[in-house]
Amino acid sequence: MNWRIPLADVDFDGDEEEAVSAVLRSKWLTMGEVTQQFEKDFSKLTGIEHCMAVTNCTAGLHLAMVALGVGAGDEVIVPSLSFVATANAVRYTGAKVVFADIGGETDLTISSQSIERRITERTRAIIVMHYAGYACDMDAVIKIAREHGLYVVEDAAHALGGALNGKSLGSWGDIGCFSFFPNKNMTTAEGGMVTTNDDELAKKLGLLRSHGMTTLTWDRHQGHAWSYDVTELGYNYRIDEIRSALGITQLKKLARNNERRRELTEEYGRELEELTSSVLVPFRGHRGSSAHHIMPILLPEGSDRAVVMDKLKERGIQTSIHYPPIHLFSYYRRENDSANLKITEAIARRELTLPLYPGMSSEDVSYIVNCLAETLGSDQ
Ligand SMILES: *Cc1c(COP(=O)(O)O)cnc(C)c1O
Repeated sequence: MNWRIPLADVDFDGDEEEAVSAVLRSKWLTMGEVTQQFEKDFSKLTGIEHCMAVTNCTAGLHLAMVALGVGAGDEVIVPSLSFVATANAVRYTGAKVVFADIGGETDLTISSQSIERRITERTRAIIVMHYAGYACDMDAVIKIAREHGLYVVEDAAHALGGALNGKSLGSWGDIGCFSFFPNKNMTTAEGGMVTTNDDELAKKLGLLRSHGMTTLTWDRHQGHAWSYDVTELGYNYRIDEIRSALGITQLKKLARNNERRRELTEEYGRELEELTSSVLVPFRGHRGSSAHHIMPILLPEGSDRAVVMDKLKERGIQTSIHYPPIHLFSYYRRENDSANLKITEAIARRELTLPLYPGMSSEDVSYIVNCLAETLGSDQ
């Protein structure tokens, strides 16, 4: 399909091509200086001390669970309104996923009251997800976690560049996980970063990322070591130098691109208010500073979302849904027959995600909002 306005778009130019070519010419393809530089740059941008590049965010979430000692018999509280990977990472360890509800129409992030109601003596950790790049109520989440002795992991796949009270999203909990999938705010194709300010956890995550081996190919190539021990059951969740080169280049564009996302989100907000007052725009005036990853709206109660999406498609506009709630997927229904997630279910039915990417123009925003207003007008 040739969209007039796709849902998302990557910002690549000659810089990415040159960075990748330089790695290919060097013939050192994985676990080397380029990845170390990417991690250093990421650390500088987020202010998080230990940043470890991994295969993807899902691998990072899995490593986070393993590093925190989560396993069979444990429960981890997770928002149902997220990408399925947030919950899958818990299941990989044999632990049980306990789904929490979201705040409401204006705040689609996890509800701290809902978290509190789901804590049992088996609860080990909470995973929060900064939906669309908007901060969860981290003061409340951290307070609950401290009171009950729970770990906090941030699925920050939407949130790179976002902050709350001047502190980067991803740096509030014990571990943060970022994604560089092509539709995220920056991309390395596949790729992710797992982060922590805790030295012990960093050591563990580093080992687990690379087979549990105490020295790496790079150290041996450098002549720093010639053998190794294996001290943990690790994985191969490493990134490679080609992707890290993309990451270094993309990081340089992040601030500018996030600023453009912010401007476009504001334009959307203003025009939606003017033309389609029946549409609700969540997160207006939300706490913290968002990474503006996506543009979610809530359609009026009772409107047929599939029809709206089809009509926008006819005009060349790609839209999406964030998300079908995880607890309603067949696999998770088998696990969780009694999840009481009324707000998530009611809001997920009305959610529609409009295109948002830095290369969009203000005319694109106007075109989309006009098409949406027409569609809703003829629908009602
Ligand atoms: C994209 C995404 C992931 C998974 O990221 P990958 O890098 O593709 O593994 C996890 N959680 C959320 C909320 C995401 O949006």
